[in-house]
Amino acid sequence: MREERTKKTKTVCTFCGVGCSFEVWTKDRKILKVQPSHDAPVNAISTCVKGKFGWDFVNSKERLTTPLIRKNGEFVEASWDEALDLVASKLGSIKQEYGKGSVGFISSSKITNEENYVIQKMARQVFETNDVDNCSRYCQAPATDGLFRTVGMGGDAGTIKDIAKAGLVIIVGANPAEGHPVLATRVKRAHKLHGQKLIVSDLRKNEMAERSDLFVRPKQGTDQVWLMAVTKYMIDQGWHDADFITENVNFFEDYSKSLEKYTLEYAEKVTGISQATIINIAEMVRDADGTCILWGMGVTQNTGGSDTSAAISNLLLATGNYRRPGAGAYPLRGHNNVQGACDMGSLPGWLPGYQHITDDAARAKFEKAYGVTIDSKPGLDNIQMLKSIDEGKMKAMFLAGEDMALVDSNANHVHDVLSKLDFFVVQDIFLSRTAQYADVVLPAAPSLEKDGTFTNTERRVQRLYQVLPTLGDSKPDWWIVQEIANRLGAGWNYSHPSDIYDEMASLSPLFSGANYDVLEGWNSFLWGSNEGVSTPLLYVDGFNFPDKKARFAIADWVLPAQFEDQYDLYINNGRMLEHFHEGNMTNKSEGIQRKVPEIFVEVSPELADERGISTGSVIRLVSPYGALKLPVLVTDRVSGNELFLPMNSTKKDSAINFLTGPAVDHRTHTPAYKQTKVRMEVI
Ligand code: SF4
Repeated sequence: MREERTKKTKTVCTFCGVGCSFEVWTKDRKILKVQPSHDAPVNAISTCVKGKFGWDFVNSKERLTTPLIRKNGEFVEASWDEALDLVASKLGSIKQEYGKGSVGFISSSKITNEENYVIQKMARQVFETNDVDNCSRYCQAPATDGLFRTVGMGGDAGTIKDIAKAGLVIIVGANPAEGHPVLATRVKRAHKLHGQKLIVSDLRKNEMAERSDLFVRPKQGTDQVWLMAVTKYMIDQGWHDADFITENVNFFEDYSKSLEKYTLEYAEKVTGISQATIINIAEMVRDADGTCILWGMGVTQNTGGSDTSAAISNLLLATGNYRRPGAGAYPLRGHNNVQGACDMGSLPGWLPGYQHITDDAARAKFEKAYGVTIDSKPGLDNIQMLKSIDEGKMKAMFLAGEDMALVDSNANHVHDVLSKLDFFVVQDIFLSRTAQYADVVLPAAPSLEKDGTFTNTERRVQRLYQVLPTLGDSKPDWWIVQEIANRLGAGWNYSHPSDIYDEMASLSPLFSGANYDVLEGWNSFLWGSNEGVSTPLLYVDGFNFPDKKARFAIADWVLPAQFEDQYDLYINNGRMLEHFHEGNMTNKSEGIQRKVPEIFVEVSPELADERGISTGSVIRLVSPYGALKLPVLVTDRVSGNELFLPMNSTKKDSAINFLTGPAVDHRTHTPAYKQTKVRMEVI
């Protein structure tokens, strides 16, 4: 009898972009164990601590189980019909009264591809707006921009397994041992057992830095300079791949000229990395049989994040490190489905499958399918939507699964802005900090309670199957969106996420040939070509431009914004191994919460000596935008005046974004979270 009630269901991990898949053993609602498999295409028999033990949150008493409507300032429980009727009538009447652009849409990289697709469809078809975005704006937009400008596609060049084939891996501004643990394991193994070389550039001596052959600590926000200096030095020495460039890349002369000022002397002065070390990096690239560059938020969350991403791609192009396994660009997608949220067109400038909104033929195809006219002008991104709300233009917002009030920078300001909305709908699994500003909160189902697909950092689309019944009256996001859209006359008739996937694939050449049959069980599909074939390696038939040639992107390094002298310490932030992002889920997983119950700010031994503090001291950090009170951990992982704060706090007195400010990457508007300065007060 006991065995009959035990069930094994395949799912895909929701805690990072590696995309591990495994079977979850359940009995009733109890999660018995997580069992990876040799059939899992990315991770085989591996998982990390989050994938293995991070699932208790699905049974948390804090889960939302019924719709909530704000009445007289308080949330009261409501039926689905009451809540959905109210959402449809309020959003519909705001659109009617104030016109296009009065309602904005925030989708999510935690929800499925199908759910992202229907959210962008609701925005474009029902509300006739391109004002739709997702949280890639907060992390990966600059990496995608740098790659689109150079190689014409934003995805990882090859598979995660291919990284192990590289002779050299360079990790820039990323901490994969904690942020992408199973991927990091492949690099660790290749480095230890197969002679792969490893260079790490980071402000913080993380685990990969400790294992590396060469660890460099450039001054904050200067990675672009050493990358360009390495490229210039290699070209000057004749170590570039002239044949590859002639055959595959445009604008070499112009690009070479643009590097003139990036001499060894200039780079040393700006970055603090010695000239000998820059030469050493260049020699390691020259000598390697294939170089992969992996990068993360330490690059992208800066005012020059997109240009630094382009500089990475330029270096790879100059040295012929594309179009073969074990070489190429690997932006590390952080959320489990940040790739998919973008693929599905939850972006202000792109329709599903990276068909640009200015492409007349693509727009005409969607206009025919949706029965509306689609504006050829890109809509507002997350950051521009907040500005529009602040200016009184955008009146209402629909947000799914993002805790914007915690993850956007300058949180005190964001809270002020959200409170200005005439009508705010949030669908989530918990009453997040953002949901506390909502007029209607709709209880959504987490990944374990629904079917669908996720797309990982290497562009791999995988099926997840419903492990548990939905809790209480919660519902899958796609169901909720369909109910709202249909109340406004959309006439959708999706009975299962596969119906949505089929429609998306029929409109998106990038996904032609992919469907739920192709994705059955452990099978998966890597997008990349327009021919319906799985594409492990991008650019085999040339780069994604009409002439099939890549382009060097020219961009000068710009000095980051400066702070007043009183703010004398930089504060960096990032993930820790045990927790996911802002911690909304892992803070509610008992085992993980017991292991890492609170956060702390890392302080270097030299700074601790100077300020007379030690591990356990409590300090107050003050930036121009807010203040936090935090316990101290003294560690040589950080050095000098650099502090580090894990980002997984939901509390007002310890969440990093009560310190971060309004500066953004100049091309994509991604907040420059990493360019934050504070002063320290010892309590
Ligand atoms: Fe989940 Fe990422 Fe850990 Fe894999 S490495 S189990 S996807 S958190």
